[in-house]
Amino acid sequence: MDNIPPAPLPEGYLDFFQSMESWQNEQTIRLQKTFAHTKHDLVMRLREQKKPLLSQINPHIDGDLLHGLLDQFLVFLDENRPSVRALTQQLRVNLPKLDFDDLIKFFLVPKESELIGIAKQIEIPGDFFIFALDHALRPVLRIIAESYQADLAAADFHWDLPTICPICGAKSHVSRLRQDDGQRMMFCDRCFSEWKTRYLFCVHCGCDHPNDISYLSVEGQDARRVYVCKRCHGYLKTYDERTSGHPVDMFIENISTIYLDMLAQEQGYTNHDQDPLS
Ligand SMILES: [Zn+2]
Ligand SMILES: [Zn+2]
Repeated sequence: MDNIPPAPLPEGYLDFFQSMESWQNEQTIRLQKTFAHTKHDLVMRLREQKKPLLSQINPHIDGDLLHGLLDQFLVFLDENRPSVRALTQQLRVNLPKLDFDDLIKFFLVPKESELIGIAKQIEIPGDFFIFALDHALRPVLRIIAESYQADLAAADFHWDLPTICPICGAKSHVSRLRQDDGQRMMFCDRCFSEWKTRYLFCVHCGCDHPNDISYLSVEGQDARRVYVCKRCHGYLKTYDERTSGHPVDMFIENISTIYLDMLAQEQGYTNHDQDPLS
Protein backbone atom coordinates (compact mmCIF):
# COMPACT_ATOMS: atom_id res chain seq x y z
CA MET A 1 0.00 0.00 0.00
CA ASP A 2 2.23 2.85 -1.20
CA ASN A 3 1.35 6.46 -0.62
CA ILE A 4 2.96 9.66 -1.77
CA PRO A 5 6.37 10.52 -0.28
CA PRO A 6 6.40 12.69 2.85
CA ALA A 7 6.20 16.47 2.90
CA PRO A 8 9.26 17.99 4.62
CA LEU A 9 8.96 19.27 8.18
CA PRO A 10 9.02 23.06 8.68
CA GLU A 11 12.57 24.43 8.63
CA GLY A 12 14.30 24.18 12.00
CA TYR A 13 11.60 21.96 13.52
CA LEU A 14 13.67 18.79 13.82
CA ASP A 15 16.79 20.74 14.83
CA PHE A 16 14.88 22.20 17.76
CA PHE A 17 13.84 18.77 19.07
CA GLN A 18 17.33 17.36 18.52
CA SER A 19 18.81 20.24 20.51
CA MET A 20 16.22 19.73 23.24
CA GLU A 21 17.04 16.01 23.48
CA SER A 22 20.77 16.88 23.74
CA TRP A 23 20.01 19.42 26.48
CA GLN A 24 18.00 16.78 28.37
CA ASN A 25 20.76 14.17 27.93
CA GLU A 26 23.31 16.61 29.38
CA GLN A 27 21.06 17.29 32.37
CA THR A 28 20.49 13.55 32.91
CA ILE A 29 24.25 12.89 32.97
CA ARG A 30 24.78 15.80 35.37
CA LEU A 31 21.98 14.69 37.71
CA GLN A 32 23.11 11.07 37.80
CA LYS A 33 25.85 12.22 40.18
CA THR A 34 23.44 13.73 42.70
CA PHE A 35 19.97 12.23 42.27
CA ALA A 36 19.29 8.63 43.29
CA HIS A 37 15.98 6.78 43.14
CA THR A 38 15.05 4.13 45.67
CA LYS A 39 13.48 1.33 43.68
CA HIS A 40 9.97 0.04 44.33
CA ASP A 41 8.59 -3.37 43.48
CA LEU A 42 7.31 -2.49 40.01
CA VAL A 43 5.67 -5.80 39.19
CA MET A 44 3.74 -5.90 42.45
CA ARG A 45 2.64 -2.25 42.12
CA LEU A 46 1.39 -2.69 38.56
CA ARG A 47 -0.39 -5.93 39.39
CA GLU A 48 -2.16 -4.53 42.44
CA GLN A 49 -3.24 -1.12 41.13
CA LYS A 50 -2.96 -1.27 37.32
CA LYS A 51 -1.81 2.35 37.31
CA PRO A 52 1.58 3.75 36.18
CA LEU A 53 4.22 3.55 38.90
CA LEU A 54 4.79 7.31 39.29
CA SER A 55 1.10 7.94 39.92
CA GLN A 56 1.26 5.44 42.81
CA ILE A 57 4.48 6.32 44.64
CA ASN A 58 6.22 9.41 45.96
CA PRO A 59 9.46 9.48 43.93
CA HIS A 60 10.97 12.10 46.29
CA ILE A 61 11.89 14.64 43.65
CA ASP A 62 12.85 17.80 45.48
CA GLY A 63 10.92 20.90 44.40
CA ASP A 64 14.20 22.84 44.23
CA LEU A 65 15.51 20.35 41.70
CA LEU A 66 12.61 21.10 39.34
CA HIS A 67 13.00 24.83 40.02
CA GLY A 68 16.65 24.70 38.90
CA LEU A 69 15.86 22.60 35.83
CA LEU A 70 13.01 24.85 34.78
CA ASP A 71 15.23 27.91 35.17
CA GLN A 72 17.80 26.34 32.85
CA PHE A 73 15.19 25.06 30.42
CA LEU A 74 13.91 28.63 29.98
CA VAL A 75 17.46 29.70 29.07
CA PHE A 76 17.54 26.85 26.53
CA LEU A 77 14.21 28.02 25.06
CA ASP A 78 15.41 31.64 24.84
CA GLU A 79 18.38 30.50 22.78
CA ASN A 80 16.63 27.93 20.63
CA ARG A 81 13.09 29.31 20.26
CA PRO A 82 13.41 33.11 20.39
CA SER A 83 9.78 33.38 19.22
CA VAL A 84 8.53 32.34 22.70
CA ARG A 85 10.65 34.86 24.66
CA ALA A 86 7.64 36.77 25.93
CA LEU A 87 6.31 33.55 27.48
CA THR A 88 9.64 32.44 28.96
CA GLN A 89 10.04 35.89 30.49
CA GLN A 90 6.54 35.85 31.97
CA LEU A 91 7.19 32.39 33.47
CA ARG A 92 10.64 33.39 34.73
CA VAL A 93 9.42 36.39 36.72
CA ASN A 94 6.76 34.18 38.33
CA LEU A 95 9.06 31.29 39.31
CA PRO A 96 9.51 32.57 42.91
CA LYS A 97 5.73 32.37 43.42
CA LEU A 98 5.40 28.71 42.44
CA ASP A 99 5.26 25.75 44.82
CA PHE A 100 7.44 23.24 42.99
CA ASP A 101 6.60 20.33 45.32
CA ASP A 102 2.94 20.78 44.38
CA LEU A 103 3.79 21.09 40.69
CA ILE A 104 5.62 17.73 40.73
CA LYS A 105 2.70 16.10 42.53
CA PHE A 106 0.10 17.51 40.12
CA PHE A 107 2.20 16.59 37.10
CA LEU A 108 2.70 12.95 38.09
CA VAL A 109 -0.80 12.04 39.28
CA PRO A 110 -1.69 13.73 36.80
CA LYS A 111 -3.94 16.66 37.69
CA GLU A 112 -3.86 18.73 34.56
CA SER A 113 -6.68 21.01 35.69
CA GLU A 114 -4.60 22.13 38.71
CA LEU A 115 -1.65 22.95 36.43
CA ILE A 116 -3.87 24.88 34.03
CA GLY A 117 -5.32 26.80 37.01
CA ILE A 118 -1.79 27.79 38.15
CA ALA A 119 -0.87 28.83 34.59
CA LYS A 120 -3.94 31.05 34.53
CA GLN A 121 -2.92 32.74 37.77
CA ILE A 122 0.47 33.67 36.34
CA GLU A 123 -1.09 34.59 33.00
CA ILE A 124 0.59 32.16 30.66
CA PRO A 125 -1.11 29.62 28.36
CA GLY A 126 -1.71 26.25 30.05
CA ASP A 127 -0.20 24.26 27.20
CA PHE A 128 3.06 26.26 27.32
CA PHE A 129 3.25 25.85 31.11
CA ILE A 130 2.75 22.07 30.91
CA PHE A 131 5.23 21.81 27.98
CA ALA A 132 7.90 23.63 30.01
CA LEU A 133 7.32 21.58 33.18
CA ASP A 134 7.22 18.33 31.23
CA HIS A 135 10.48 18.92 29.38
CA ALA A 136 12.29 20.35 32.41
CA LEU A 137 11.34 17.29 34.48
CA ARG A 138 12.24 14.68 31.85
CA PRO A 139 15.93 14.30 32.84
CA VAL A 140 14.82 13.26 36.37
CA LEU A 141 12.10 10.94 35.08
CA ARG A 142 14.65 9.25 32.79
CA ILE A 143 16.97 8.52 35.74
CA ILE A 144 14.05 7.01 37.69
CA ALA A 145 12.91 4.97 34.67
CA GLU A 146 16.40 3.57 34.15
CA SER A 147 16.08 1.70 37.45
CA TYR A 148 13.21 -0.35 36.02
CA GLN A 149 14.64 -1.28 32.62
CA ALA A 150 15.42 -4.85 33.64
CA ASP A 151 11.93 -5.34 35.12
CA LEU A 152 10.28 -4.11 31.91
CA ALA A 153 12.53 -6.32 29.77
CA ALA A 154 11.85 -9.51 31.79
CA ALA A 155 10.35 -12.36 29.75
CA ASP A 156 7.24 -12.54 31.92
CA PHE A 157 6.58 -8.79 32.19
CA HIS A 158 2.96 -7.99 31.49
CA TRP A 159 1.11 -4.67 31.34
CA ASP A 160 -2.55 -4.29 30.46
CA LEU A 161 -2.45 -0.74 29.03
CA PRO A 162 -0.02 -0.91 26.09
CA THR A 163 -0.40 2.74 25.00
CA ILE A 164 0.34 4.11 28.50
CA CYS A 165 3.88 4.14 29.89
CA PRO A 166 3.92 1.82 32.95
CA ILE A 167 6.51 4.04 34.62
CA CYS A 168 5.55 7.70 34.03
CA GLY A 169 2.04 7.38 32.58
CA ALA A 170 2.70 9.30 29.32
CA LYS A 171 0.85 8.19 26.21
CA SER A 172 3.02 6.34 23.69
CA HIS A 173 2.59 6.98 19.97
CA VAL A 174 5.36 4.89 18.53
CA SER A 175 6.87 1.42 18.71
CA ARG A 176 9.72 -0.50 17.14
CA LEU A 177 10.07 -4.08 15.97
CA ARG A 178 13.30 -5.34 17.52
CA GLN A 179 15.97 -6.44 15.09
CA ASP A 180 16.94 -9.77 16.68
CA ASP A 181 13.49 -11.27 17.26
CA GLY A 182 10.83 -8.94 15.82
CA GLN A 183 9.41 -8.26 19.29
CA ARG A 184 7.30 -5.08 19.33
CA MET A 185 8.54 -2.57 21.93
CA MET A 186 6.38 0.43 22.82
CA PHE A 187 8.43 3.58 23.45
CA CYS A 188 7.81 6.44 25.90
CA ASP A 189 9.36 9.68 24.72
CA ARG A 190 8.97 11.27 28.17
CA CYS A 191 11.00 8.81 30.29
CA PHE A 192 12.51 6.60 27.53
CA SER A 193 11.01 3.39 28.94
CA GLU A 194 10.22 0.54 26.57
CA TRP A 195 7.81 -2.31 27.19
CA LYS A 196 6.71 -5.29 25.18
CA THR A 197 3.47 -5.71 23.37
CA ARG A 198 2.24 -8.16 20.78
CA TYR A 199 2.82 -7.72 17.05
CA LEU A 200 -0.48 -8.49 15.29
CA PHE A 201 -2.50 -6.74 17.92
CA CYS A 202 -4.21 -3.36 18.19
CA VAL A 203 -2.72 -1.51 21.17
CA HIS A 204 -5.89 0.61 21.43
CA CYS A 205 -8.72 -1.95 21.46
CA GLY A 206 -6.95 -5.30 21.84
CA CYS A 207 -8.18 -6.65 18.50
CA ASP A 208 -5.89 -9.46 17.34
CA HIS A 209 -7.73 -10.75 14.32
CA PRO A 210 -5.14 -10.82 11.48
CA ASN A 211 -7.68 -9.62 8.89
CA ASP A 212 -8.41 -6.50 10.92
CA ILE A 213 -4.78 -5.36 11.30
CA SER A 214 -2.82 -3.97 8.35
CA TYR A 215 -0.31 -1.22 7.74
CA LEU A 216 0.22 1.92 5.68
CA SER A 217 3.61 3.03 4.40
CA VAL A 218 5.07 5.53 1.96
CA GLU A 219 7.22 4.80 -1.06
CA GLY A 220 10.91 4.36 -0.32
CA GLN A 221 10.37 4.26 3.49
CA ASP A 222 9.92 0.53 4.02
CA ALA A 223 11.03 0.46 7.67
CA ARG A 224 8.44 3.06 8.68
CA ARG A 225 4.93 1.73 9.01
CA VAL A 226 1.64 2.77 10.46
CA TYR A 227 -0.28 -0.23 11.77
CA VAL A 228 -4.01 0.35 11.57
CA CYS A 229 -6.99 -1.43 13.09
CA LYS A 230 -10.23 -1.87 11.17
CA ARG A 231 -12.21 -2.40 14.34
CA CYS A 232 -11.47 0.81 16.32
CA HIS A 233 -9.71 2.81 13.52
CA GLY A 234 -6.70 3.24 15.80
CA TYR A 235 -3.17 3.58 14.44
CA LEU A 236 0.35 3.08 15.75
CA LYS A 237 3.57 4.26 14.12
CA THR A 238 6.16 1.51 14.06
CA TYR A 239 9.81 1.41 13.05
CA ASP A 240 10.90 -2.00 11.75
CA GLU A 241 14.57 -2.62 12.57
CA ARG A 242 14.48 -5.92 10.70
CA THR A 243 13.75 -4.09 7.44
CA SER A 244 16.27 -1.27 7.94
CA GLY A 245 18.88 -3.48 9.63
CA HIS A 246 19.60 -0.93 12.35
CA PRO A 247 18.01 0.80 15.37
CA VAL A 248 17.25 4.54 15.44
CA ASP A 249 16.75 7.22 18.10
CA MET A 250 13.06 6.62 18.80
CA PHE A 251 12.51 10.11 20.23
CA ILE A 252 13.65 11.67 16.95
CA GLU A 253 11.87 8.96 14.93
CA ASN A 254 8.55 9.93 16.50
CA ILE A 255 9.07 13.64 15.73
CA SER A 256 10.43 13.16 12.22
CA THR A 257 7.47 11.01 11.15
CA ILE A 258 4.71 13.52 11.81
CA TYR A 259 3.82 13.04 8.14
CA LEU A 260 2.79 9.47 9.03
CA ASP A 261 0.39 10.80 11.66
CA MET A 262 -1.04 13.10 9.00
CA LEU A 263 -1.29 10.24 6.51
CA ALA A 264 -3.11 8.00 9.01
CA GLN A 265 -5.46 10.80 10.10
CA GLU A 266 -6.25 11.76 6.49
CA GLN A 267 -7.33 8.17 5.95
CA GLY A 268 -9.69 8.27 8.90
CA TYR A 269 -7.52 6.67 11.59
CA THR A 270 -6.97 8.07 15.08
CA ASN A 271 -4.42 7.71 17.88
CA HIS A 272 -7.38 8.02 20.29
CA ASP A 273 -5.68 10.94 22.10
CA GLN A 274 -8.99 12.78 22.33
CA ASP A 275 -10.89 9.86 23.86
CA PRO A 276 -12.11 10.62 27.39
CA LEU A 277 -10.15 7.77 29.00
CA SER A 278 -7.02 7.83 26.86
ZN1 LIG B 1 7.37 7.04 30.47
ZN1 LIG C 1 -8.29 -1.38 17.47
